Amino acid sequence: MLTEPVTIARALAQVQAEGLNRLDAQMLVLHALGKAPHDRAWLLAHDTDWLPPGALAALQAAAARRAGGEPLAYITGCKEFFGLQLAVDPRVLVPRPDTETLVEWALGVLPGNAPARVADLGTGSGAIALALKATRGLLTVVAVDASRDALAVAACNAQRLGLDIECVHGDWLQHVTGQFDAVVSNPPYIAAADPHLQALRHEPALALTSGADGLDAVRTILTQVPHHLKPGGWLLLEHGYDQAGAVRALLVAAGLQAVQSRRDLAGIERCSGGHMPHG
Ligand code: GLN
Repeated sequence: MLTEPVTIARALAQVQAEGLNRLDAQMLVLHALGKAPHDRAWLLAHDTDWLPPGALAALQAAAARRAGGEPLAYITGCKEFFGLQLAVDPRVLVPRPDTETLVEWALGVLPGNAPARVADLGTGSGAIALALKATRGLLTVVAVDASRDALAVAACNAQRLGLDIECVHGDWLQHVTGQFDAVVSNPPYIAAADPHLQALRHEPALALTSGADGLDAVRTILTQVPHHLKPGGWLLLEHGYDQAGAVRALLVAAGLQAVQSRRDLAGIERCSGGHMPHG
């Protein structure tokens, strides 16, 4: 444990000695200094500066949380997704870069420069809904979550970013009216007994697990979605690394067409989808 005064370089070394990797250590020092996450160059240029009074205590508290497995984004309170700075806290899942695959696919099936309606089911922080609205201003975006807490985070992000989306509380499409050109979702998909959940213990279980095989939410969405998709409208779902085959089978059984999967940046089949029959 260090006591003040201490240089930035010394503080960084100490935090790493406590088991944090270099990037996390840099992010926490920037946060303790009230600097933006992209200011790493500033940090490197100022490593002989003294930490201002009070910053060391804040840094040590943050480092202890990170060493305890808490996601960095909960400690700093923000996470970048699709170029947007989102506020996040333990009420919502931390948005993952893998989910950008789903956003890109949705942008590919929605019209480039015309009004259309899209629903994001289980919006959490609002990541997918806000990324779509930020990219295509003409979209009408409905963001749904069963957690009022999560919806409050999404609404706050929408307001902060000046993006006009509609937030609806409810189980999937239960309280949603009208039909959509696309329905997208990153639902909970981890099997209830998956040992990998231990590493995710700081995030809301409601956003992570879904029955014995992890696919209960997908099955529920599939019972509701045919009433809410226009002819030719697309359903696009994120799922686990080993679930693509099972999700495609469920999509085919629900009557969707052109059923296919998309790979994430790691080359893993991460999303599957299909469209309603045309007319
Ligand atoms: N992608 C998350 C993970 O496995 C899970 C998200 C989810 O269940 N929707 O870390």
